[in-house]
Amino acid sequence: MIEVNNLHKSYNDVKALNGLSFGAKDGEITGLLGPNGAGKTTCLRSLYGLIKPDQGEALIDQVSATTDPINVRRGIGIFPDKFGLYERMTAREHVQYIAELHGERGDSLERKVNQVLQDLGMEDLADRKTKGFSQGQRMKVALAQAIVHQPKNLILDEPSRGLDVMSTRILRELMFKLRDQGRCILFSSHVMQEVATLCDRVVIMVKGQVVANDSPQALCELTGKASFEDAFVELIGTDEGIVA
Ligand code: ADP
Repeated sequence: MIEVNNLHKSYNDVKALNGLSFGAKDGEITGLLGPNGAGKTTCLRSLYGLIKPDQGEALIDQVSATTDPINVRRGIGIFPDKFGLYERMTAREHVQYIAELHGERGDSLERKVNQVLQDLGMEDLADRKTKGFSQGQRMKVALAQAIVHQPKNLILDEPSRGLDVMSTRILRELMFKLRDQGRCILFSSHVMQEVATLCDRVVIMVKGQVVANDSPQALCELTGKASFEDAFVELIGTDEGIVA
């Protein structure tokens, strides 16, 4: 379970977060949606413990990301917006390395690495050096790294940015599978279609604050709009920064 309570963060004169509060439940996919500059990345970085909010708290399973970032990182998987790989290492070595950082050793490490490689259909890739990997293959390595320690919470920053159709499908199927296992999934996006398709709940933020928080269908009903994109425009009060 992920919670942010009254988060404030300013960069000089810019208020990136201005009293942001919302929760993401276990067994649900929650989308954090907003125009560019709304504060989505700042919110996710507060949850990773990478930045310290000026006020408020970010909690993962009731543990504060601000005061206990090491413990928090054990309970989350992070799928970054860019995935850098070491060309001379194999896919398996990449995944093993992250599992070791999470404290896995011996049989347990081997079992978890094999499990994730199997879950993502990576057996053929596993022992190849990553040099020359396609975009989809690179994404799978990054995903395997994010979930090898079987975290209860998964946080993805603009996960489908730059992905081709097949990679997007793999990612989507995995998110549904993890959701159905009872995990808590939070991802940021500014792509309407993706959010409407994937999310059980959408948190819409503008200028560092939540302006709506409900299912895509409920938000359409609330605004009287047939399409989720129209509902979003109505809720944020402008069509600036939208990618359909
Ligand atoms: P989003 O991810 O929704 O596009 P961000 O969290 O990246 O929004 O940014 C929110 C606001 O904070 C923007 O106005 C952005 O320019 C500003 N901002 C983000 N990071 C920094 C930083 N390191 N220094 C200065 N301003 C920043």
